[in-house]
Amino acid sequence: MEDAGKYGNDKMSRKLIVAGNWKMNKTASEGKALVEALKNEAAGICSCVEIVVCPPFTTLCSVVEAAKGSRIKVGAQNVHWAENGAFTGEISAAMLKEAGVEYVIIGHSERRQYFGETDETVNSRLKAALAAGLKPIVCIGELLEEREGGRTEAVLERQVKGAFAGISAEDAAKVVLAYEPVWAIGTGKTATPEVAEATHAFIRSVVRALYGEAIAEGMTIQYGGSMKPANARELVAQKDIDGGLIGGAALKADSFAELIRQAVEGNR
Ligand code: PEP
Repeated sequence: MEDAGKYGNDKMSRKLIVAGNWKMNKTASEGKALVEALKNEAAGICSCVEIVVCPPFTTLCSVVEAAKGSRIKVGAQNVHWAENGAFTGEISAAMLKEAGVEYVIIGHSERRQYFGETDETVNSRLKAALAAGLKPIVCIGELLEEREGGRTEAVLERQVKGAFAGISAEDAAKVVLAYEPVWAIGTGKTATPEVAEATHAFIRSVVRALYGEAIAEGMTIQYGGSMKPANARELVAQKDIDGGLIGGAALKADSFAELIRQAVEGNR
C-alpha cells in the first residue's frame, strides 16, 4: 500500500485540508471577488481535498455568501472562549456559527507573538470552538531560537499538551493541527520536507501518547510557513503532512488553486 505508515495506517485515510489564512487582508468586496475566482478554479480540483478560506471577521459574511453552493468552506481567524459579555473587540463561537462559519484558526503564532496568546488561552478558545461545533485548526510551532537551541520538541510537546488539556478523545478527533515553524512564516524560508516530516511525526507521537493510535493516525496535521505552488507537492508527499495552512500564497485565486493542485498530487 502506497504511503502506508509506520503504524500500518494509510495517509490517504486522513483528510487532506488546505486552508488559506488571509490575515488582515481583503475587505468584504475584495474577499467576495477572491472567492468568486477561487470557485471557478476549485470546480476542476479533485474533491479529495477540503478547501478552506479564512478571511478577517468583517469579510466573513460576504465570503460565506459568495461560497454558498460551492465546495469552499469558510473559517475565522480567532474565537473567544466566553459565550458573550464584556470582551471588547472579541467574537464568540455562536457569532461565528450564525454567520455560517465552519472552521476556526486558533493560536496562530501572530496571535501568540503580538496579542499575548498563551497555551492556556488556546485551550480555552479550543474548548469554546468544539462546544459550538466549529472545526478548529490549532496552530503550533517553535521560534527560530527555540529550534537553534534544540528545544523544538519540548516547545511543541508543551503546546500540544496545553492545547488539548481537559479535552476528551471524542473532541480531540475533531481537531486539525497546523505545524507552523515561526521562522518560516512569511519569511520565504520553508522547512525542508525532511525537517517538516520529522517534526510532524514527532507531533503525531505526542498526540498518540495523549489519545492513542487511532486518533493520532486519523488527525490531519497541516504544514504552514511559506508554502507555495513550487514546494507544496514535496511537502504534502511526506507521510505525516496532510495539507497546508497558507498565508501569502492564498491571497490570489490562481496561486492558491495551483498550490492546492500540487498538494493533491503530493498526497497521492
Ligand atoms: C500563516 O500565516 O499561517 C502562514 C503560513 O503564512 P505564509 O504562508 O505567508 O508563510
